[in-house]
Amino acid sequence: MIHAPGDIRLETRPDPVIGGPTDAIVRTVATCVRGSDLRPYRGDNDIPEPNPIGHEYVGVVEEVGSAVFTASPGDFVVGGFLHSCNDCPTCRAGMHTNRPTGGGGYDGCRAELIRVPLAGDTLVTTPGAPDRELIPSLLTLSEVMCTGWHAAISAGVGAGDSVVVVGDGAVGLCGVIAARQLGAERIIAMSRQADRQDLARRFGATDIIAERGDDGAAAVRTLTDGIDADRALECVGSEGRAAGRSTPYGPVE
Ligand SMILES: [Zn+2]
Repeated sequence: MIHAPGDIRLETRPDPVIGGPTDAIVRTVATCVRGSDLRPYRGDNDIPEPNPIGHEYVGVVEEVGSAVFTASPGDFVVGGFLHSCNDCPTCRAGMHTNRPTGGGGYDGCRAELIRVPLAGDTLVTTPGAPDRELIPSLLTLSEVMCTGWHAAISAGVGAGDSVVVVGDGAVGLCGVIAARQLGAERIIAMSRQADRQDLARRFGATDIIAERGDDGAAAVRTLTDGIDADRALECVGSEGRAAGRSTPYGPVE
């Protein structure tokens, strides 16, 4: 539970129970920290009352409601960071996280047991139990890899493209992986941290640009014969933090 900036406490809470036919109870195996956990921790977001945190997880199904047909007790599952119905126009358009009825409602996944609403359309079951060393990679499918992939698809990345990836966090690095898988020929990662630059190269970046703002934009143009990149992936995703600092690639409007 987060109580205040910098104040996270381990507490004992009641076990979650099935509250409706589309619910499932999942025993978490691995979870991770996402940006929306860090913002209140750093004091960037208000914390009106103490609340449980965490939205990225993999785990094993303990129990399912009567209308959950795609996951059964004992299945290993990857959770979505928001739950989705897969049936409304927004979900069918591939914009699951923009559902008008909202996709929140997790009781925080940094817990041993969580209740997952709309479980049949939110949980993805793996074929059998994964090897232990595969679990961190599967955990990326709970958010960051999907988000990087979504950025690349939304940008229309295709074979032979030049792509610039703005942001070298987990989503940006997954954007590099996605651009490569989609056949991009030149992948320019905007990054100025050595360890992340190394990862970006390992994942398929062909060029690294450490400059920011106008200098960064100019460096991209230089690399692309004055044309600029065919596609751009904005993977900073934090307007509040970017404002006043400018994004790695250019100023924020
Ligand atoms: Zn929907």
